[in-house]
Amino acid sequence: MGLRDVGFYLRGRLSQTVARFLNRRAPAPRPPAPIEDVLRGPVTPLALTRLLEGRSNDARQAALAHWLQTRGVPFRRHAFHTFEGAGENLVVEVGHGARALVLIAHHDAVPKSPGANDNAASVAILLSLLERWAAREPPTRVRILFAACEEIGYLGSRAWVRAHGVADVRGVLSLELPGVGDSLAVWDASAPTPFLETVRGALEGLGLRADDGYHVVGRIPVFGSDHRAFAAAGVPAYGLTSVPAAETEALRQFIFRPLRTALRGARRPRPFDTYHTARDSGETLDAGALERVARVLDAIVALGG
Ligand SMILES: [Zn+2]
Repeated sequence: MGLRDVGFYLRGRLSQTVARFLNRRAPAPRPPAPIEDVLRGPVTPLALTRLLEGRSNDARQAALAHWLQTRGVPFRRHAFHTFEGAGENLVVEVGHGARALVLIAHHDAVPKSPGANDNAASVAILLSLLERWAAREPPTRVRILFAACEEIGYLGSRAWVRAHGVADVRGVLSLELPGVGDSLAVWDASAPTPFLETVRGALEGLGLRADDGYHVVGRIPVFGSDHRAFAAAGVPAYGLTSVPAAETEALRQFIFRPLRTALRGARRPRPFDTYHTARDSGETLDAGALERVARVLDAIVALGG
């Protein structure tokens, strides 16, 4: 185990402890939707968010596997067990090509949070795209990684990279907080790469403009996500998040100086007002934001390899 793994681990533990403390007096969240209701319901990102929302991490993982099985989506399980934790990554491959575009949505949540925007909504977006791609195969190879234990320092993704390497990966996007706002942030993108150009091309192709409809942001301190396990192995790998354009400046302040925002007692800008709290429920999500993220991913995939 490398020093970098120790850093990932400690950061994950710290964020779990903070979440447990902040949510210690939270009211009981709304009960999770019966899985059979979700299976019978519409295949939209908003409706599918309830597949995982409000469940324990074991139940989230089981509900996701059940959905894939029931819909006839072939997937493989990658179980891992380390001193840091244990879980199962669920992996779906679609399309053909030598190198894969990896799209990640972690299926776990922090304790006492319903985990709707973080990150049931991201899982739901990828499930809705799988339905779309079942009818029309994408022109490139897409590997969908539903990662376990992101909240333990990206443990699931680190275990996956350790077991499978990155030799056949051309780019990675990790979805986080996709359900609030009218603009998109591609983050941890500090250097130009061919894959970043593909992402920009897809965004521009949808009529979104830089620094308005979307923002490309460099390396972010404090926060992180699964893509960092791949970035550490040397592939272009970014986070993708939906943000309200009206909050751009407040978000910049908060993301680059979170401690200062906290010490000043300033409010956390959306979508961070519910992040890792008991208030992260599906009621705060915007169907339009979720559809926008799905459209962007579909457009990136449509550009092929
Ligand atoms: Zn997350």
